[in-house]
Amino acid sequence: MNTEQLYQLFLQHPTVSTDTRNIPEGGIFFALKGQHFDGNTFAAEALTKGAAYAVIDNADFAKNDRIILVNDVLTSLQQLANHHRKQLQIPILAITGSNGKTTTKELIGTVLQKKYQVTFTQGNLNNHIGVPLTLLSLSGDTEIAVIEMGANHPGEIAKLCQIAEPNFGLITNIGKAHLEGFGSFEGVVKTKSELYDFLRNHSGKCFINSDNELLVKQAAGLEHLSYGTSDEAQLQGQPEETSYYLTVKVLFPKGWLYLKSKLIGSYNFENILAAARIGLHFGVDPLEIQQAIESYQPSNNRSQLIQKGSNRIIMDAYNANPTSMMAALTNFASISHSAKTIILGDMLELGEYAANEHQKIADFIDGHNFDNVFLVGKCFLSVTTGPKIKKFDNAELLSDYLYQQKPIEDNLILIKGSRGIQLEKILEKL
Ligand code: ATP
Ligand code: MG
Repeated sequence: MNTEQLYQLFLQHPTVSTDTRNIPEGGIFFALKGQHFDGNTFAAEALTKGAAYAVIDNADFAKNDRIILVNDVLTSLQQLANHHRKQLQIPILAITGSNGKTTTKELIGTVLQKKYQVTFTQGNLNNHIGVPLTLLSLSGDTEIAVIEMGANHPGEIAKLCQIAEPNFGLITNIGKAHLEGFGSFEGVVKTKSELYDFLRNHSGKCFINSDNELLVKQAAGLEHLSYGTSDEAQLQGQPEETSYYLTVKVLFPKGWLYLKSKLIGSYNFENILAAARIGLHFGVDPLEIQQAIESYQPSNNRSQLIQKGSNRIIMDAYNANPTSMMAALTNFASISHSAKTIILGDMLELGEYAANEHQKIADFIDGHNFDNVFLVGKCFLSVTTGPKIKKFDNAELLSDYLYQQKPIEDNLILIKGSRGIQLEKILEKL
């Protein structure tokens, strides 16, 4: 079956699923393959559970007239998504970058919702499957879509752009993340810049942080809609001194407004300003932009502030890489508090750069006088540190240790590490 024929079916059954645990009644099931499963084997079950059709690529399972055989299910899903996107004459904004994609996407979505029907990526569905699924969730009512694009190998952003055909793009920043898959920092720069390359070749526009020299260089020849701290930026903003939650002062056409966010971490400044710039471009009233930013609450252990007993905890155990780790530590060091504790977990996926990058973090900590420092994971275990720093192989060992010690009280505590280190387990013991 070709894409046009599949599209005719999709118009009659406009929900798709790739997971038999969640089959929408009367939708289309796409039998994808994973490392440990073959979706073809679930096609019959999907039909029993209510799917109208199942798309498969193994003829052995084509035993029902509601089963559609294609060459490759993933390619069909991506082509269908692209075909659907082409029918919708709406602006699509793609977001990539090393850090802050999801936070920025949600801020932008919240801002644009003040004026439009917006569809934006759910959770972190930002890869070669998540992007097509997000596109297929766009309905005739959607006026603007905001699509998060993640990558850990060269060429992936180019591919996602071919599927989503964005007319606007935002690279939040380019840092040291997933170095293992990209091979080097240059590999990261090249891959993220694939978004700019696509926009340049398709008369698109980019929203850009004019303070970020690397981004400005990469975006040469592309129309800029800028934001930043200098008065040359089309939307100027400044971070305000606040102890925990970040306030951003923004110069809108009618004057300054203070956006009092519920986000911690000075690094969120650029995320908030990006959302304000995009809202302004699409004609959202500045007072509504302010309301939207002020209402947004982060979730999923992304820079959340938690009060537990007498301790205040900055919970950032959602992910970590050298750039976001250093941003979190610098922010933490700048907050004044009588007693401070740091609990850090390994930054994963750094390959040959791991030893060096973990040592840099340890050196930064050694240069500051934090009251307690606990490092967790195999990489941190092998760094050289001063005597005050305690190291543990895994989160359970640190939990056991904390359980036996005199409780930590009246501290400001930073918890940050890659998700694989599972630092959230420690929260119970604090
Ligand atoms: P993923 O690659 O997992 O999709 P992401 O790019 O979507 O991540 P978020 O989930 O928004 O990023 O944020 C994850 C963490 O990254 C935050 O908790 C924070 O520690 C850090 N972070 C967010 N924004 C920035 C930024 N602008 N600069 C540096 N670090 C940031
Ligand atoms: Mg994300």
